[in-house]
Amino acid sequence: MAKVDPDNITRSSAAHDEASAYLVGGVNSPVRAFGVVGGKPLFIASGSGATITDVDGRSYIDYVGSWGPLILGHAHPRVVQAVVAAAHRGTSFGAPTEQETTLSRMIVERVPSIEAVRLVNSGTEACMSAVRLARGFTGRSKIIKFAGCYHGHVDALLVDAGSGALTLGTPSSAGVTRSVAANTLVAPYNDREAVAQIFATNGSDVAAVIVEPIAGNMGLVLPADGFLSTLRDLCSRHGAVLIFDEVMTGFRVGLGGAQVLHGIRPDLTCLGKIVGGGLPLAAYGGRREIMDHLAPTGSVYQAGTLSGNPIATAAGIATLSELNDAVYRDLEERSEQLADGLKRGAEDAGVAVRIARCGSMLCTFFSDKPVTDLTSAKACDTSAFATFFHAMLERGIYLAPSQFECAFVSAAHGEDDIARTVEVARESFAVVARS
Ligand SMILES: *Cc1c(COP(=O)(O)O)cnc(C)c1O
Repeated sequence: MAKVDPDNITRSSAAHDEASAYLVGGVNSPVRAFGVVGGKPLFIASGSGATITDVDGRSYIDYVGSWGPLILGHAHPRVVQAVVAAAHRGTSFGAPTEQETTLSRMIVERVPSIEAVRLVNSGTEACMSAVRLARGFTGRSKIIKFAGCYHGHVDALLVDAGSGALTLGTPSSAGVTRSVAANTLVAPYNDREAVAQIFATNGSDVAAVIVEPIAGNMGLVLPADGFLSTLRDLCSRHGAVLIFDEVMTGFRVGLGGAQVLHGIRPDLTCLGKIVGGGLPLAAYGGRREIMDHLAPTGSVYQAGTLSGNPIATAAGIATLSELNDAVYRDLEERSEQLADGLKRGAEDAGVAVRIARCGSMLCTFFSDKPVTDLTSAKACDTSAFATFFHAMLERGIYLAPSQFECAFVSAAHGEDDIARTVEVARESFAVVARS
């Protein structure tokens, strides 16, 4: 237990020092360390509904929601009940359970392009496995991804657009080899011509296009008209597999995800975050003809000791059971109120922002220009964001500690929470204007 000097140090700060003795950077996932906004991370003791409480006993209205999963808010009673009941029945068997079928049926019923499912443990694993399956199915090696889309820390997907040679990928992390990156071709998001060009020169080698159909990992960037349908056409024409990474958007922008919103049928879909109800569970699925290439029926190997874990499936089933049209209507209404309030607050303070929103995902870009891809996202004023972030945090609003993350509204955020957030944002934009 961290010791605290009550005069000048918070318990969070002491907890981070203590954690840093045992954990790399004191965290288990890098962005949690507050590196890009400065300062030290808060250590969280508990959460309930829209609120989290840190180890110093301070409460915050939370817009991180565990980075997306908690669409029902923290410690939703039905989810907690389901998890406790499942734990009492046994935490893991490594043998099939009926709950895996239940959750998989719920996914198939809600996401129209998914005919069969494989449950895994993280979004990273879902994306890694979907790419392997696409390669196994097509017998091809190259994949196309988009700059600024994040698909987990899969070697083949930790690749940036190289300078010079436009589309040839270069590793974006130490430890990813050039030979792996060489099979990943990178195009700018929303750039139809660039993708058409890649297909024109590599068409018969392309196994898959993987894309966030609504991009939520460079802030929030919506697909331009015709972008997703062009990807669908190009993949169909060249025999490549279209993979929608809906780890963030699945069950977030609506029950059927971005694919229903935009009326596009991908061949494979990756799910995570909400589908696991706050526990480590993710999934990938799609056309039966492709999915049947997975072992045990096919020759593409993929396995997992804890895959389909009974506690995680219980949380997923409980969460999906609560989601319906009325919930999404409420989320839409609250999120619109929040976006409007943020916009007015920034305008009144004279701070240039662009608010991007889709349902209950939103992002405040500190920029006076539209953000349509990674290049325009990177043009944002990240130091203004950092000032805003800390002003919000000091006043009890917990945002993700980066300009390039979304805020998530949950079903537990009430009108009072939104009103309070708008009021605090108004003060925080004024702080930005004075800085
Ligand atoms: C979060 C995320 C992932 C990675 O999921 P993990 O569970 O963190 O491995 C992949 N793709 C997208 C679009 C995500 O938002």
